[in-house]
Amino acid sequence: MGLRRSNRQAGPDDPRTAVVPGTDWAVELRGVRRRYGRGSSVVHALRGIDLALPRAGFTAVMGPSGSGKSTFLQCAAGLDRPTEGSVRLGGTEITGMSENKLTALRRSRIGFVFQAFNLLPSLTVEQNVLLPMRLAGVHQDRDRAAGLLAKVGLEGKGKRRPGELSGGQQQRVAIARALVTEPDVVFADEPTGALDTTTAAEVLNLLRGAVDTLGATVVMVTHDPAAAAYADSVLFLADGEIADSLPRASATQIAARMKALTAPVHAGAAA
Ligand code: ADP
Repeated sequence: MGLRRSNRQAGPDDPRTAVVPGTDWAVELRGVRRRYGRGSSVVHALRGIDLALPRAGFTAVMGPSGSGKSTFLQCAAGLDRPTEGSVRLGGTEITGMSENKLTALRRSRIGFVFQAFNLLPSLTVEQNVLLPMRLAGVHQDRDRAAGLLAKVGLEGKGKRRPGELSGGQQQRVAIARALVTEPDVVFADEPTGALDTTTAAEVLNLLRGAVDTLGATVVMVTHDPAAAAYADSVLFLADGEIADSLPRASATQIAARMKALTAPVHAGAAA
């Protein structure tokens, strides 16, 4: 069951697709490596990630604890710098970009959704949704905020404070906030980790809807196969490498693949 060394060919549904010149990818990582520390204590968190994610796609990233999921997300979102390799967001090479430029790019071209919602409690719901525009120094489009709040089922709640809302409602605000600048990509880090099953399904349907009806691109790290089943494609990380991928898979199929990746046989499966 050496899934980690899968010989599957990259196909049209496979994010490991070779570079196609002129293709307008939302996110591209080429030869991305990230090492922490040095010498005998060096940790290879990412060992050469190559992938290209198309626009208007929903990708889930799974893998055992310590497989590199957070590092992948941080590098892909320009929050951390790879030791080697390059990252492009919406066709813009961010490798080597100055910190100021990177911050500006993150504010206008990346949306974030976190497990803990990360809304500002002192701001209203509307102000939270508009925050990325405010930080980017662009016109705060209140109509757009109202439209997005309606889309996520929070019509008329713009004047409330996050503390007055349920967890599921707060995550809906976070999704509206992530979409407000029409970013190249929305990175979601365990967005349903703090929610019950029913509320989680609602939030996942919203992310799915953002992809299908708004053309958003979503990359979601999750440990939950049921959440990953909402994605168009699931990437499996193991030991800092893309060990496998599954297009349009069911929760059962995803869980089986995860189990195979974490099975003891995996440890000895190196080619
Ligand atoms: P995951 O999100 O899949 O649990 P991480 O990306 O957090 O994996 O970690 C991948 C590997 O990199 C782990 O071995 C982890 O201990 C190591 N690592 C992550 N961040 C750091 C850091 N700041 N310093 C040293 N090692 C780190």
